[in-house]
Amino acid sequence: MKEAYPNQSERLSPLVQRLRAPNPSPLTLTGTNSYLVGVEGGRERVVIDPGPSLPLHLEALVGIAEKAQAKISLIAVTHDHPDHYPGAVRLREMTGARIAAYQGTTFPYDLPLEDGSYLQTAAATLLAIFTPGHSPDHLCFYLEEEKALFTGDLILGSGTVVVAPPKGDMADYLRSLHKLEEGWGEAQVIYGGHGPEITNPSAKIREYLNHRKAREKQLLAALQAGATTLPEIVAQIYQEVDKRIWPAAARQVMAYLIMLEEQGLLDVGEERPATLAEEALLNPQGIFDPLVLAELGLEPGGEKVRSYRLKEIRI
Ligand SMILES: [Zn+2]
Repeated sequence: MKEAYPNQSERLSPLVQRLRAPNPSPLTLTGTNSYLVGVEGGRERVVIDPGPSLPLHLEALVGIAEKAQAKISLIAVTHDHPDHYPGAVRLREMTGARIAAYQGTTFPYDLPLEDGSYLQTAAATLLAIFTPGHSPDHLCFYLEEEKALFTGDLILGSGTVVVAPPKGDMADYLRSLHKLEEGWGEAQVIYGGHGPEITNPSAKIREYLNHRKAREKQLLAALQAGATTLPEIVAQIYQEVDKRIWPAAARQVMAYLIMLEEQGLLDVGEERPATLAEEALLNPQGIFDPLVLAELGLEPGGEKVRSYRLKEIRI
């Protein structure tokens, strides 16, 4: 018997439908948001982020298009994390649609995109905006007809984004948020890679930037109070927070430390093997899930770390 598909598609606007992939987890929230974009009555649809390669989910996406007597002609992918891109290749096999993604990303694609590339289709006009930080190949897409921003994992419908080195870069991430704030202030709605739609885009972008500033301040305060290693810093900043998220928190702290070092604010020790406490924090046993590894930037088999000291007190 055919398994029933658990999720219903939702019509969000005249041009946008959302089908959530059935891959809920602490990092993917209620699941990855796949979007179908195209005018009702039109013959084509663009899929943004087909999600993981889950046959039922991909069949459901094709089914939604077929029901509207349309076909999926293009697949646009925001970034190369396992909860966003793997469905693309399979969906291409099923539909013949081409895959559009950032030039030089790590998965197969047909149309290389860069900042400012236009995807002009019968379904809609999408502008690619290069927004690295969460990952080096991250793109947002702007749907001109509805002033809608598809933000992948740059901005989520709820919670905050993990920016984890080595591939995550906090300075890039902040620049990408500023870029959206300055260039796309007229956006009416944000459709994130996870969570619900956001109807107050500029306030949300500000909130994200303020949250990051606050975290940076906490980090500077921890350093000022004498913390020099990741476990010491995390213990100070994330005292109140569930310890299960400390590995992600430690990665985030690392991303800030790299940024502060680049800004010349830190004296940084030589790279050295992690102590047991550092290893336990950064790479707790039992994490083999490729999604978690990618999101947290974990390097299986031996972490190299440094110690940190503030050069001068500036708070
Ligand atoms: Zn994601």
